[in-house]
Amino acid sequence: MGTQAPANWEEQPLTTLPGIGPKRAAQFAELLGARRLNDLLCVLPRKYQDPACWVNSSDWGSVDGERVRYRGQVIKTWLFRPRGRRTVLGVRVEDKYGYVDALFFQQPWLRDRFQPGEELELEGKASARRGAKLLAPRLVSAAGEEVSGLEAVYPESGCLSSGQVAKAVQAAMDALLKSADDAGEDPANWVADPIPKSLRASLDLPALGAAWLALHRPLDREQVEAARRRLAFGEVLRFERARLAALPADGAPNASAREQRVWSRILARIPFALTSDQDAVLATLREELAAGRTIRRLIHGEVGSGKTVVAFAMALALAADGRQSAILAPTEILARQHLRTFQSWLQGSQLRLVRLLGDDPQSMRRAALADLAAGRAQIAVGTHALFGPGVSFADLGLVVLDEQHRFGVRQKGALVEKGEKPHVLTMTATPIPRTLAWAAYGALEPCVLRSRPGSGSEVTTRVHRPIAWRESISAEMAQRAAAGEAAFLVAPRIDGEGGLKALVASLREGPWAKLRIGVVHGRMMGAEIEAQVRGLAEGRLHALAGTTVVEVGLDVADVPQMAIFGAERLGLASLHQLRGRLARGLNARPARCEVFVAGDAFERLQVLEECCDGFQVAETDLRQRGPGLLRGLAQSGHGGFRVFDPIRDGDLVEALRREEIRNWLQDGG
Ligand code: ADP
Ligand code: MG
Repeated sequence: MGTQAPANWEEQPLTTLPGIGPKRAAQFAELLGARRLNDLLCVLPRKYQDPACWVNSSDWGSVDGERVRYRGQVIKTWLFRPRGRRTVLGVRVEDKYGYVDALFFQQPWLRDRFQPGEELELEGKASARRGAKLLAPRLVSAAGEEVSGLEAVYPESGCLSSGQVAKAVQAAMDALLKSADDAGEDPANWVADPIPKSLRASLDLPALGAAWLALHRPLDREQVEAARRRLAFGEVLRFERARLAALPADGAPNASAREQRVWSRILARIPFALTSDQDAVLATLREELAAGRTIRRLIHGEVGSGKTVVAFAMALALAADGRQSAILAPTEILARQHLRTFQSWLQGSQLRLVRLLGDDPQSMRRAALADLAAGRAQIAVGTHALFGPGVSFADLGLVVLDEQHRFGVRQKGALVEKGEKPHVLTMTATPIPRTLAWAAYGALEPCVLRSRPGSGSEVTTRVHRPIAWRESISAEMAQRAAAGEAAFLVAPRIDGEGGLKALVASLREGPWAKLRIGVVHGRMMGAEIEAQVRGLAEGRLHALAGTTVVEVGLDVADVPQMAIFGAERLGLASLHQLRGRLARGLNARPARCEVFVAGDAFERLQVLEECCDGFQVAETDLRQRGPGLLRGLAQSGHGGFRVFDPIRDGDLVEALRREEIRNWLQDGG
């Protein structure tokens, strides 16, 4: 069959294609969901291969191992069986310079297909060992016409090889093209595009049908990319529709006198005036609360921008409604810091705050769990101990994930599931591009805290080769530390050369020998770490040497010095977080951060000297670490993206803000 395309080609079953019987057709249906010819056209190619170059038999020595195209005349055919292997069909093909032996593996029946004197055009892998050979070739253009452009390569699927899928899809393409030609129609109209033409035109996207044609038979990579973007926009729209549908309808805003009173009581507990960014973020969240929505928001904020206030105010707002909040911190240091802050701001309040840390005494843990389960405690602050199966809430209404990148998706989900659709605030100091925030968190407008409250002081960063440390810098820092300028000394690893232990040992000699240096790292108990941190804060220690545990949220006011060793092991975003520990607090002094870096990373990290904006640093970081990271992130959260690319398709997400697109989506488009 297949010579005469039926008028309604798309309705035809796969068995109308050459080489596909009922058994094969069943495999296509099961593995690819393809039952009719038009289903086949929706199979996505995996990649594209550039057309191989035409070569002569005299070129063979220089193309060994490459894919090539070769044409010539059949001289003879023969079958042979290399020891222990399956039958090979040899076809000797001659051009004016000599001959090449084309070897077909495991297809002895093909022998009858080749007649001496016949002209052949083949593509395969050239081998120049023991004579000119063309391995596992395929016929390029049996009909003699030039095959131009890229070749679509399809994924294999179960027992269907990539080649079998390709053959079926391309045969379906032939059926489509023939039927369109017979009817005098544009083959690109084979499927209607749900996106109006005017919208497509404004985004420079091809029609859906044309996109699929281009994906299967592209002329060049530009055409493939345009087609991919059309499909990506489809995914963007699907995701956005689902997102909009998941938002509960706006209830009547409930900005009652009571709500006003609650908020003014909450704000009165915060011991400083909010920055305008904090104000704006809280206003947004307050509005959403009043509208009865389930809040799912990413709060982006530079280190030190004051995200804790947002968590605190929201927890109190929920408590005013009799609901509970869980504040999840990535480390014990940070959890203890939140506890201290919350306790001091809650002084004199009826609200009960409990902690859940890894090393809590049993009796304390039991009491905390009982208070949460009975609803006697309104706020829980803790680390991963909050995830535990033994932890249950009377009515968990808010989950705050601080510095979320430290936790797995599943762990976070486990906590969220302890409540009945609780509000979720994700706080991160690592800015990510808007596109990615949309894909991973489903929020088109992230809340952003940009300004750093009350701190006019600068952090000056210098990037050095490690050798510089032993010279003047060590002595200079020690001298300042002795004069009351506290210092953080950071080494990324605990053990080994250049590790924390080696660093501390070397500090005990030389200019630091007489100074008091505390040590913190991830293998210490939370309480121990806290004692050291307090030692620095209270001036009993001159310096705190630590691993990157100090990166996450450690809040000691007014530390003016930091040295980071082995910075080549750290990403830009981490380094930026680390230096964010400096010059904190209202009356902080200007600070300096000395970064020591070995090898090639020196160039990569120099951007830290000029750039102080975390968002800019993070963009550079993501670019340096490559798009794979972005893709992984986008896929980890919400699925359904097959071709959408958070880096390349940022403009398609941005386009969702456009009036015309919003209206069209609203009208059920
Ligand atoms: P983040 O978690 O965003 O890194 P924090 O919430 O820990 O930042 O705040 C950093 C420091 O700034 C804290 O000491 C906090 O008390 C202080 N702070 C926060 N907001 C303000 C403000 N509006 N005015 C003055 N100080 C503030
Ligand atoms: Mg914080």
